[in-house]
Amino acid sequence: MAIIGIDLGTTNSLVSVYRNGNVEIIKNILEENYIPSAVAIDEDERILVGKPARERIYRYPEDCAIEFKRQMGSIDRITIGNKHYLPEELSAFVLKKCKEEAEIYLNEEVTEAVISVPAYFDNQQREATKRAAKIAGLVCNRIINEPSAAALAHRMKMGIEEEQYIIVIDFGGGTLDVSLVDCFENIVEIAAVSGNNKLGGKNFDEQIAKEFIRENQLEEESLSPEEYSLIIRKAEETKIALGGNEQVTMRCKLKDKLYTMVITQEKLLSITGNLLAALKEVMVRVIRDAGCTIDEITDILPAGGCCRLQIVQNYLKELFKREIAVSDDIQELVVKGLGYYIGIMEQKEGMKGILVTDVCPFSLGVNTAGVSINDVMSIIIPRNSTLPKQASKEYVPVSEGQKEIVFSIYQGENYYAEENKKLGEMRIELSPKTEESQKVLTTFSYDINGILCVEVKNSQGIKKKKQFLGTGNVSSNKNIFEEKYLPRELEEYTAIHERLQNLFAEANEWNRESILKWLMSIEYAKEYEGYVENIKILRNVKRCIREYEEYINGEDIFS
Ligand code: ADP
Ligand code: MG
Repeated sequence: MAIIGIDLGTTNSLVSVYRNGNVEIIKNILEENYIPSAVAIDEDERILVGKPARERIYRYPEDCAIEFKRQMGSIDRITIGNKHYLPEELSAFVLKKCKEEAEIYLNEEVTEAVISVPAYFDNQQREATKRAAKIAGLVCNRIINEPSAAALAHRMKMGIEEEQYIIVIDFGGGTLDVSLVDCFENIVEIAAVSGNNKLGGKNFDEQIAKEFIRENQLEEESLSPEEYSLIIRKAEETKIALGGNEQVTMRCKLKDKLYTMVITQEKLLSITGNLLAALKEVMVRVIRDAGCTIDEITDILPAGGCCRLQIVQNYLKELFKREIAVSDDIQELVVKGLGYYIGIMEQKEGMKGILVTDVCPFSLGVNTAGVSINDVMSIIIPRNSTLPKQASKEYVPVSEGQKEIVFSIYQGENYYAEENKKLGEMRIELSPKTEESQKVLTTFSYDINGILCVEVKNSQGIKKKKQFLGTGNVSSNKNIFEEKYLPRELEEYTAIHERLQNLFAEANEWNRESILKWLMSIEYAKEYEGYVENIKILRNVKRCIREYEEYINGEDIFS
């Protein structure tokens, strides 16, 4: 049975498989190689996943959820319509969709997956990801850091033999991950990782939207959620349309009034300079951590949609003082890497013996009540240790007659334990004898899946062991798949139908007439049984939409 690789992205999710000596990216029913990470509920209370859900968000923001990856591991529920879901349940919908598309593509059942997560994800977030897989009916054997996967894809694609020291800059929709990857002989080893899980393309969209609101003297507070959501969408479209062009015009119609803003590369740079500074900050941290110089880095590997931005590329070029090669598949690097990884796991021909290692992205340690007087964090596994890692330290009580030691387990880089993230507690009783016999050996084992296991052992050999899953393990208690679903064969119609309604809402009277015609033919096709006829209608309407959008986006009312 095939194992699939899933890049469960903040914005888009991709699926790959290793077949016939190659990585294949799985195309879905919409003939696209990505599934938007979006979930929505329609007027018939049916669950929509992927593109239909993504299209619906502009008119019904309250019925849709996106970017839930940012809340992964949290126990706060996200509301769509009148239903409430954990972030991991929403992710499960997306994973289930990935699984189903893979099953159709491969024509066999799929039960196993390797899933990637940002390197900066902590224990709770990794555990939540595994739980999401389980809810979706997948066993997730291994969680891989996204940058490790990207570096592996780069190396395999280029057929590189010699030693490389690669900086992977994965700048996605909602997260930034920067890693240094050391490749030598048959080893792909992460030397250091750092990231910011609140920095991504979305922030660029928000800054553009903010500027748009400011320039047009709109009041943010008086905008409805639908209007704000429309401005955000227009901002994203403008950002993408800018590409390598000198300038584009952002247009947005609100309450029947057209608002515009011209955006140039220079203006984009001036309103998003703080985001670039934040990007630099993460890169500096990772290079410092690895203890290397810029010259020692052999390859700069941009990954993730944001690296398509000209200003980001220019910025990298300036910082690294060299040309930056941006490949067409930067948004697919991670999923391709997962595919190669599966090839390695399955020991496929030509893939044997490559070893992919990973590091722990943060320090792990304890603060002990009754061991140290102050609140300092005692680090047991330092940040960026190669995984799997096991380390032990001995602790003795501070006061005489003390009956037990309570270990608080923390993760983080702050000097004071309290300022770090507490994962849990462990207690162990002490033998009341001599000081020598009161030693407690604390062992941390951190595995390749980012799961921490702590063992404490007192001098009488009494042991206690615990796995740290964090607070996120309030697992879902309902069967989310009992919901009514949009049938797969209606997905394309629905996505187009939603898109047309979005276009209709923004169009002028003249254009509305044509859109109305397309809407009607799609509604007709949805009802009509004749398969061949349906395909023709779909194809035709899709072409009309494409031409219409080209016309609308190319129309510059100032020129
Ligand atoms: P994630 O891995 O977080 O799911 P991706 O790597 O797919 O995300 O990147 C998605 C982000 O990339 C979005 O914010 C999107 O607006 C942005 N993006 C996609 N294409 C372009 C482009 N051509 N220019 C600029 N940004 C882009
Ligand atoms: Mg990504």
